[in-house]
Amino acid sequence: LGGTGEAGEPAAALDTRGVPVTSSLAGRVARPRLPVGEVRVGGFGGPDALARWLAEHGVTAVVDATHPFAERISASASAACAAAGVALLRLERPGWSGRPGDRWTWVDDLAAAAGAIGQLGTRVLLTTGRQGLSAFSTLDDAWFLIRCIDPPEPPLPRRHELILDRGPYTIPGELGLIDRHGIDLVVTKDSGGELTVAKLDAARERKLPVIVVRRPARPGTETAADVAAAATWAFAHAG
Ligand code: NAP
Repeated sequence: LGGTGEAGEPAAALDTRGVPVTSSLAGRVARPRLPVGEVRVGGFGGPDALARWLAEHGVTAVVDATHPFAERISASASAACAAAGVALLRLERPGWSGRPGDRWTWVDDLAAAAGAIGQLGTRVLLTTGRQGLSAFSTLDDAWFLIRCIDPPEPPLPRRHELILDRGPYTIPGELGLIDRHGIDLVVTKDSGGELTVAKLDAARERKLPVIVVRRPARPGTETAADVAAAATWAFAHAG
């Protein structure tokens, strides 16, 4: 189950070892980076339908490599694998941790992030993705530079500019963006990973505050933190 920039890596690792692998994408991104091997696109139709799909395709192991904030598909995978008797591993890259010089405020969700903006800044680089931006739509006192991969749906904040981009990003690139737009606050989810971490390095360099949205809790599923461990696990569970 893919949905992150790195999710194609376990598929490649398994393909190299001759294990047949199908990657599943939600179909939200218009031009996704396609992993090697077979790819299917679109929702399954809930946990029961996913369980049927697993049985029909003779699947012996599922790696849930979806985004740390994609909660429904992970819950669906957990229920479906239990029902179908299929092994499940969660591949989740570690979250980001602060370093000396960081000015981070941790919050539980997007609504809390919106609530914290007023005290911290007025020109905001908003990088929480295209979903859930309605949480910021009533903040008329701030200006937002909204960056996401595909266009978000309204309602959006009244005063904003949109940048469609998918990274990976560099520190010089992020510093340039911050300086050009007079950014004084960064808002992000704790997505983790290397592809989008440069904004945090740039914010530290410019001494800017950052609002970081905590990951939702994911109880119960066996988890690997890196691709090599996930590929080894999947290889061992390949039928
Ligand atoms: P979500 O709330 O967990 O999932 C919503 C529905 O989309 C699921 O119930 C499922 O439909 C379908 N779906 C999600 N991932 C799928 C996959 N890999 N293969 C097939 N169907 C999938 O997820 P979301 O937050 O809307 O995110 C959608 C996708 O974007 C995910 O793959 C996620 O990894 C990726 N993504 C999310 C974020 C984020 O911040 N949420 C950021 C970057 C990337 P059915 O119930 O019909 O099976």
